[in-house]
Amino acid sequence: MHEMSIAMNIINIACKEAEKDGASSISKIELDVGKLSGVMIDSLNFCYDAVCKGTMAENSTLSINEIPALARCKNCQHSFEIDAFMALCPMCESYEIDILQGRELKLKAVSVNE
Ligand SMILES: [Zn+2]
Repeated sequence: MHEMSIAMNIINIACKEAEKDGASSISKIELDVGKLSGVMIDSLNFCYDAVCKGTMAENSTLSINEIPALARCKNCQHSFEIDAFMALCPMCESYEIDILQGRELKLKAVSVNE
């Protein structure tokens, strides 16, 4: 499962950070997940709890900020929200767009217990 390896990665990085800070455990991990990142949030939440067991992140909370996807039309410069990679500009119906955001998958913050 895709989300399982993502969860393992996130927890690995977070545990290393927490260790560096001399923390005893992790209380919360915050993630930015773009709408076009291909990550299923429900599935990630489910995997997270399983992967946390036995690590410094056991019993921690996963907080996900869902980032909306935005594109800008190359033709008329109009910016608009999209929900797929292929989208038409609502102003001029051009399909030549730049995706500005929505592909994020990044660890935003790790909260630890001293
Ligand atoms: Zn346009």
